[in-house]
Amino acid sequence: MTEQQTQNWIPDEVDTSVPSMARTYDFLLGGAHNFAVDRMVAEQAEKAMPGAAKIARINRAFLGRVVRFMVDQGVTQFLDIGSGIPTVGNVHVVAQQANPQARVLYVDKDPIAVAHSELMLGNNDRADVLRADMRDPESIVHSSQARRLLDFDKPIGMLLVMMIHWVPDEDDPWALIGRYRDALPTGSYLALSHVTAEQREDQVTEVQGKIRESRSTDQLTPRSHDQILRMFDGFELVEPGLVGCGLWHPRGPGDIADNPELNSHVYGGVGKKL
Ligand code: SAM
Repeated sequence: MTEQQTQNWIPDEVDTSVPSMARTYDFLLGGAHNFAVDRMVAEQAEKAMPGAAKIARINRAFLGRVVRFMVDQGVTQFLDIGSGIPTVGNVHVVAQQANPQARVLYVDKDPIAVAHSELMLGNNDRADVLRADMRDPESIVHSSQARRLLDFDKPIGMLLVMMIHWVPDEDDPWALIGRYRDALPTGSYLALSHVTAEQREDQVTEVQGKIRESRSTDQLTPRSHDQILRMFDGFELVEPGLVGCGLWHPRGPGDIADNPELNSHVYGGVGKKL
């Protein structure tokens, strides 16, 4: 029997012999919504880059901190693009704990991420999920879900956490982010985290090679500090700027690794739209 036949949570369109980065990341975080091919890529990543699972957890902790930061700045609505498979520290949980009126629109292109988000959000009328590709900003910004949940006359917290490195240079992620920026009102925030090869090029290149060999439709493009910084054009970075995401206002031991290298494989930052 295939995984498809034994597990009733798998949408028919999903090919369980091809890995997805949503499910591979879910496995790295300790989740259960993944298949043998995803676990194989995750294990290869952990072998090539010891601490890959810890890096995923540090990134997830960064996500929670930036959402709390934005709520503290008065943001009550969030657009979380590349939101992934629901797991510990989902944005609506963090935001609505701090402010029960907070509204969240999740967006992902992965069918399993979207199916599980729909299940999780069943009776939450202040959060929804949209299946869309971030490379089509207008389909997201003008969606019925965005119109229902987000008021584009008030600041919005936009999250592109651990996702924009899946958008290749030929799709011009800088221009794409600019189109979202232009749709956001002044005073909105952008939080972004992104893999870099600046600390350990050898390890990241090996991980990139394993993903390429895996035939995943998501391919990793690590970028330099300067390239990622340019994604904040039109936003003013808040302190401490674009840093290893473990170093962005860590609050406790789960936020930061003892091995300093692990804190900086993923750059993270928050900017405010001017
Ligand atoms: N943002 C979450 C976090 O940091 O914990 C999940 C990150 S997960 C590593 C990356 C997610 O981005 C995956 O769920 C993947 O499906 C999604 N993704 C990748 N490219 C995308 C695209 N072009 N449009 C929408 N989602 C995309």
